[in-house]
Amino acid sequence: MKLHEYQAKHIFSRFDIPVPKGKIANTAAEARQIASELGGNVIIKAQVLVGGRGLAGGIRLAKNPNEAGTLAATILGMEIKGLPVHRVLVDEAASIKEELYLGITIDRIEQCPIFMASSTGGVNIEEVAQTAPQKIVKVLINPLLGLRDYQARELAAGIDLPRDQWKIFTQIATSLWNIFTSNDATLVEINPLVLTKDKTLLALDGKITIDDNALPLHPDLAEMRDLDAEVPEEIEARKYGLTYIKMDGSIGCMVNGAGLAMATMDIIKLHYGEPANFLDIGGGANADRVSAAMRIILQDPSVKSILINIFGGITRCDEVARGILSAINDIKPSLPIIIRLAGTNANEGMKLLADKNLTTADTLVEAAKKAVMAAHGDQDGDPG
Ligand code: GDP
Ligand code: MN
Repeated sequence: MKLHEYQAKHIFSRFDIPVPKGKIANTAAEARQIASELGGNVIIKAQVLVGGRGLAGGIRLAKNPNEAGTLAATILGMEIKGLPVHRVLVDEAASIKEELYLGITIDRIEQCPIFMASSTGGVNIEEVAQTAPQKIVKVLINPLLGLRDYQARELAAGIDLPRDQWKIFTQIATSLWNIFTSNDATLVEINPLVLTKDKTLLALDGKITIDDNALPLHPDLAEMRDLDAEVPEEIEARKYGLTYIKMDGSIGCMVNGAGLAMATMDIIKLHYGEPANFLDIGGGANADRVSAAMRIILQDPSVKSILINIFGGITRCDEVARGILSAINDIKPSLPIIIRLAGTNANEGMKLLADKNLTTADTLVEAAKKAVMAAHGDQDGDPG
């Protein structure tokens, strides 16, 4: 889950990272009022959960409260990369001398958190990483030790930060680390972290991404969720306790268990098919859940066949089969459905499905082959 800039900046300031003075506005009139409180010289910033707002015209400088009102009205009427702007942040304008980058994320290859800093902040950091990787300084963090002061100095030296800024830089980096760990973040980023003309460091933009799996531990953060930027099917799936992730292929997958769902996708790809989604219906898949899962899969117009792969442990295959039948009865899907059941009560389950004009398979490989054939237009899904 991503936080908005203004939410990230609230958290920054709670952890003593310097941010510009500012407030959030829902209307142009509010923006004008805030601008006059801040002395008139402000920057108006669209609060949408995408990067590159500046280039899209969603970030504008105003010289006085009236101009702030006019610009806010324009920005509040905009859509940026398909997302409507509901709020703008009105911040005191900063006098920028240099734009830097400072961020933490998880390095999956090194399997630990990684701190990154760059003297070329402000711009798209992914682009810097590709075109001029030497301009990004990286320091791996031992999660049990946390960020050590010498590592913060290594970052400061690596981006040629003036010596008189090292102390405050170390404080900012330490706070960023504390934000990262105490909120179960997967990303915290200040871009740009600016050195102002009066020689202070200031976080002008903030991005925080929270690990969804940790949200139950952080009800205050969970409340901040903005669904505008999320895939509608994923929101719907969450309501039913399903884990659904949309992908680009044509074979809809319904599987119990995350590991089996991954294996199912692998086997589909091995047989030259492309999964349309990851979907874990969890244990105890009852009729309601199976129906919800099927509806969600079918909302994706690129789905051409559905592969249902269930391993019965505590979950009984006959119960899942009843769920499938009731879902099919409700939804009456016109696509080929291929089902493989294994484990507890698999035979009973298969019997229930046998004369219902569904394609069944004994092994996952057979099921995958049939699903791939069916997605390519062979309606009965028979590879032979
Ligand atoms: P993003 O484009 O969505 O990442 O939005 P940012 O908040 O990073 O802003 C983009 C750019 O706007 C920054 O890199 C700065 O160059 C500029 N900017 C942001 N705030 C200010 C400000 O207070 N004063 C000035 N002069 N420029 C700003
Ligand atoms: Mn930015």
